[in-house]
Amino acid sequence: MGLKVDIFPALQDNYGFILRDEASGKVANVDAPEPRAITKRLAVLGLEKLDYILNTHWHPDHAGGNALLKKRYGSQIYGPQEVTRIAPLDHVLKAGDVFMLGETKLDVVDLGGHTLGHIGYVDRAGGQAFVADTIFPLGCGRLFEGTPEQMWSALKRIAELPDETILYSAHEYTLPNLKFAESLGNSHALAERAVKIRAMRQRSEPTVPSTVAEEKATNPFLVYPLLEKDFTAQAAKFGELRRAKDRF
Ligand code: ZN
Ligand code: FE
Repeated sequence: MGLKVDIFPALQDNYGFILRDEASGKVANVDAPEPRAITKRLAVLGLEKLDYILNTHWHPDHAGGNALLKKRYGSQIYGPQEVTRIAPLDHVLKAGDVFMLGETKLDVVDLGGHTLGHIGYVDRAGGQAFVADTIFPLGCGRLFEGTPEQMWSALKRIAELPDETILYSAHEYTLPNLKFAESLGNSHALAERAVKIRAMRQRSEPTVPSTVAEEKATNPFLVYPLLEKDFTAQAAKFGELRRAKDRF
C-alpha cells in the first residue's frame, strides 16, 4: 500500500499529478492547471472523482482550474493562503502542517521564493515530493516574489531530502535548462544526463520526475552554490546564477 502517482501533460508545458492513496482510494490532484486535461486523465484511469486539490502556489497555471474542478467533483481545495488572490480555497495549509490523503501522510514544507507562499508536499514514507515551480530537472523557478535567500532556503530543503527521493516538478523546461547548465561547464555526470535527456525528449517523453541525487550531481542551481562555505555565500552564488539564467 502506498501513494500512486500518475503524471500527465496539461496546458503548454505543465504537468498534472493525480495522487491515489491505495489503502483508502482517496484521490487528489496536485494543482489545477487545466480542468479538461485532468478530467480526461481521471477517466482514462477509471476514476470518476477528485476528492482533493492540493495547490502549491497562486499562479493561474496552478490554481486557475480550482473553481471548475470543485464545481464538477465537489473537491475540497487545500493550499497556501495566497491562492485566494485568484481562486477558491477551502482550507489553508502552511509549513509544518500535515495533509492526510487517506492513509498517506504528506508533510507541508515551505518552498517560498518563486512566490512568497509557495509550498511543497512530501511523502516521506514513499520517498517522493511535489515541488512544483521550485526545482526543475537542471533548473529552478524564477524569483517572481521572493529573495535569493528565501529561494536558496527552499532549494536546500529539497537537497537535504534523502538522495533517492523522487521530485515531481510542474513544468517541462529541461532542454533550455540543459543548455544553460552546459554553458557553465561540463562534468561527466552532466554529459551523461544530457544524452539521456535529449533521447527522452526526442521520444517526447517527460523528463519529470527526477531525483534529489540527480539534481545534486548536475543541477547548476545546487552544484555551484553548494561549493560555497556558508549560507550567505551560497545564497549569493545562487542569486548570481539565477540572474544569469534570466538573461540567458
Ligand atoms: Zn508558477
Ligand atoms: Fe507554473
